[in-house]
Amino acid sequence: RFHQIKDREIVQEQHLGRGTRTNIYAGRLRVRSRGDDDDDECNNNFSAGKGIRVVLKILEQSHKDIALAFFETASLMSQVSHSHLVFVHGVSVKGSENIMVEEFVEFGPLDVFLRKEKASVTPQWKFIVAKQLASALSYLETKQLVHGNVCAKNILVARRGLELGTTPFIKLSDPGIALNVLSREERLERIPWIAPECVDSGTLSDTKADQWSFGVTLLEICNNGDVPLSSSALAKKERFYQQKGRLAEPSSQELASFISMCLTYEPVERPSFRTVLRELTEGMIDPAISPGETLPDSD
Ligand code: ATP
Ligand code: MG
Repeated sequence: RFHQIKDREIVQEQHLGRGTRTNIYAGRLRVRSRGDDDDDECNNNFSAGKGIRVVLKILEQSHKDIALAFFETASLMSQVSHSHLVFVHGVSVKGSENIMVEEFVEFGPLDVFLRKEKASVTPQWKFIVAKQLASALSYLETKQLVHGNVCAKNILVARRGLELGTTPFIKLSDPGIALNVLSREERLERIPWIAPECVDSGTLSDTKADQWSFGVTLLEICNNGDVPLSSSALAKKERFYQQKGRLAEPSSQELASFISMCLTYEPVERPSFRTVLRELTEGMIDPAISPGETLPDSD
């Protein structure tokens, strides 16, 4: 249920980073013009610099079920279409290598972007990004699809929106390998983004899981790409969830209460994205998602 891309239609360029059992490269995808034939003449291998820019996510050599889960993600992303969801061109199988071919998003992951640009990013900017993310997740919710890996690292910046009179534009990336085929360690690693009920079950049964992750991601945005616990040891992370710990919230009153609505250990108590989006759109939430305002831990 995804487009199969031929090996010779892609060119691999520089290494961009590593993900969960993946290696990511920049690359090019040949765009076929009308009348192009599969077995056309000579220049099948188009030269580098031509074609459209893409990202190649190459799965590490792995077990069959992992590859299957990787394809399922590609299939999920191929079924959806939303301006704030990254576009997946398809999958290419090259020998034993499985490659997801995805739209290249110019300004990279949001966490890195926020750390770099924190001096220029305004509360209004963050508010717009939050709204765009909520709209993508609300769209998935109407289709009863769960993303399962919402975090600032998986939000890509397509337009900076830092220049006067411009607005940011983000795209939520693919979720990668499904939770159920990851090891328990890998799931613990994802605390605090992973919903507490998913750590043990390893399954993503409903969109409630994304609502928790959305809350943590908002917090991450408020804190300019940092979130408590993210670099703690696994045992500490695990203990935090076992003790139903609460993450420190930003000081902006409306937003803090909003984040805490998402960050409840009881999945049914989390608000739907439909509600979230409506409240964000109606401006019931104060756009003052301000970073500099975080109060020191009092009481
Ligand atoms: P995970 O499933 O854990 O998210 P992943 O395979 O998606 O793993 P990431 O860690 O999300 O890998 O991405 C690795 C790096 O690749 C990012 O930090 C970013 O620099 C780059 N990257 C990923 N996707 C894109 C994209 N669509 N456009 C531009 N850069 C990207
Ligand atoms: Mg990713």
